[in-house]
Amino acid sequence: MPLLSANHIYSPEGLLTDHVLEVDAYGLVQALRPRQGAEVTEHHKGILCPGLINAHCHLELSHLRGQMQRGTGMTGFVQELWAKRNLLSPADQAEAAAAVMEEMWWGGTAAVGDICNSALTAGPKRAEARLYTHSFLELLGLDARRVPDILAQGEALTRDFQGLSHSLTLHAPYSVSPALRDAFYARPQGRLSIHLLESEGERRFFAHGDGPMETFLSTFNLPRLRFPQPDPIAYICEGLAPAQPVIWVHNTEMMAAEATQVATGFPQAWFCLCPLSNDFLHGREPKLPVFLPWKDRLCLGTDSLASTDSPHVWDEALRVQALAPTLKTHDLLRMLTTQGAAALGMAGELGIFAPGTRPGVLLIQGQEEVEGPLSPQARLRRLF
Ligand SMILES: [Zn+2]
Repeated sequence: MPLLSANHIYSPEGLLTDHVLEVDAYGLVQALRPRQGAEVTEHHKGILCPGLINAHCHLELSHLRGQMQRGTGMTGFVQELWAKRNLLSPADQAEAAAAVMEEMWWGGTAAVGDICNSALTAGPKRAEARLYTHSFLELLGLDARRVPDILAQGEALTRDFQGLSHSLTLHAPYSVSPALRDAFYARPQGRLSIHLLESEGERRFFAHGDGPMETFLSTFNLPRLRFPQPDPIAYICEGLAPAQPVIWVHNTEMMAAEATQVATGFPQAWFCLCPLSNDFLHGREPKLPVFLPWKDRLCLGTDSLASTDSPHVWDEALRVQALAPTLKTHDLLRMLTTQGAAALGMAGELGIFAPGTRPGVLLIQGQEEVEGPLSPQARLRRLF
């Protein structure tokens, strides 16, 4: 049975020295404990860390990797997405998702929170036993008359994901009618993952009813919807139970008072940041100082491969570190592991070396100084 040691071993409370990690031949954790005397261990130079959690991705868009134009904004992106998303057969799209899941696992990812608009990824998820997935089955629609149809389609999708961890969720404030929001929140909830304040256009659409988002929506034959509040956060939180676990995704345009409002009003709210995707689509990134008081509520996601080149959440952590130089290595590792796992409802099972769990074991090399920021040179290797 391997007895692993390293310069440091991750725990949620800090980076431990003079400890050993006991795992069996399959990576099942037996113990994380102080080193005893002259124990012979398999020693590694670097930091041992559990597998990483990618709290937000869109595996069903994996086949669009490298196919999309940079800087088109939300409406340009969605238009290009619709034009290109079905150029490949469903079988080829599913194959691309399966290949990305394997790539993620080898790159150190243990679990993904994956947004689904179809059953495309259900097969690949059943076939890939190593990567844990929670599928957020997304509902959206601005036509109040279609609410019963939208809920019925969601229920049908739920059946496609039977046997896999999943829950229904809403897409974003601007894509959900008051009727759909109210009908959805009136039902029993699983975990939610909702896109929020991804672009400036979202705020403008709510406040003034115009801008690029209105231009885009006006190209469809939709009811001319005016949202009842000028504020996307107040709108989407209306009727939401305070104890409801929600991953708020992107938060690119969120301001400090808004982060405080969400974090204090909803104790199980998580903020998921995906800065590389935000930069690709909008040329903007989340304002990290806004989230520093809430750094224990942060997790990270890659978004889709249609809007980022890398499926590895590690690359998002390096970007967040660059945006917030005062964050320490351990802060980033917490977001990547323990906090991401809690956001997906996997606290105590993933993102931590807890006895009886198989969170994966990664070796981080090239990080000489652990008290400071995460080094851009730091690299991951999967041991288990
Ligand atoms: Zn997304």
